[in-house]
Amino acid sequence: MDDRAILWPYEEGEVRDFYYARYAHPTVAEAEERLGELDRGHAVLFPSGTGAATALVLTLLRPGDTIALAAGAYFGTGKLFEALGRWGLRYFEFDQTGPPPEGTQLLWLEAPSNPFLTMPDLQAALAHPAPAVVDSTVATPIGLRPLELGADYTLHSVTKYLGGHDDVLLGAVVCREAAAAEALRRTRGLTGISPAAEPAWLLLRSLRTLEVRVRRQVETATAVAERLRDHPKVRVVRYPGLGSLISFDVADGEAARRVETATRIALNATSLGSVRTLIESRHRWEGDRCPPGLLRLSVGLEDPDELWADLAQALEKS
Ligand code: PLP
Repeated sequence: MDDRAILWPYEEGEVRDFYYARYAHPTVAEAEERLGELDRGHAVLFPSGTGAATALVLTLLRPGDTIALAAGAYFGTGKLFEALGRWGLRYFEFDQTGPPPEGTQLLWLEAPSNPFLTMPDLQAALAHPAPAVVDSTVATPIGLRPLELGADYTLHSVTKYLGGHDDVLLGAVVCREAAAAEALRRTRGLTGISPAAEPAWLLLRSLRTLEVRVRRQVETATAVAERLRDHPKVRVVRYPGLGSLISFDVADGEAARRVETATRIALNATSLGSVRTLIESRHRWEGDRCPPGLLRLSVGLEDPDELWADLAQALEKS
């Protein structure tokens, strides 16, 4: 079967599993198989993490329904739900470290949240009657498998650690139930929120190194977080020890700007989960909800001492 094609001939006039790539593609199906095994569920890929979130709410909810979203979760997720308000979707934020409130049709947790790095109280969420989605982009299946703990859906921005090399934009929902994955595939075919084959191929490549990458990134992040805690210019360090995402506060917005523009190894760029260390002030995107001095640091695979030396010289300038 030509996996660079987007259509495949019928066999003796019969429609087989693969016939048109908007509905299913062999490379996408293989990547879904691998990711599903890793996360202990049924994976469905989408063109981005945000595309995955859109498809999930379109599948599960109807106008008038309400999502309870973890406060401090990825900024874009709240923005997406806000935009879908035009079609009658409602959402509010709650503190995911405690039980979710009543009167909601979907719980949206983030483990850990980006960039505030709180962890959800999964037990409390699972006692709630609404289905629970855990955006586990930062933890990755190496750190956490929410489906094993009873969540209904795990969401990943594959763009981040799963892809890992800043060359793939992709998302996934991993479902506990096979029927839920089928419903998502129907939405995918109907709406055209379908992934291309090349990113799925890149995911297959990246999954081969996921475990070694993440383990090493967490080791370095743990050491960096400790050093940041001891640094006189650093006021707060948030690092729950899951994934390699850290956020820390320096004095103010000007100090944050001086640090992010002074690093040489850590790239001053958005995103996270890369083999390259990334640093940025989140205030530029998130405005008032984010302290002006907050820097988000996604630790990569560089030499830990060289990376620390780079951060330390940048902090001297703050
Ligand atoms: N979820 C989390 C936790 C994220 O950090 C991001 C992106 O930064 C997304 C979802 C959205 O992913 P994508 O950029 O692939 O649409």
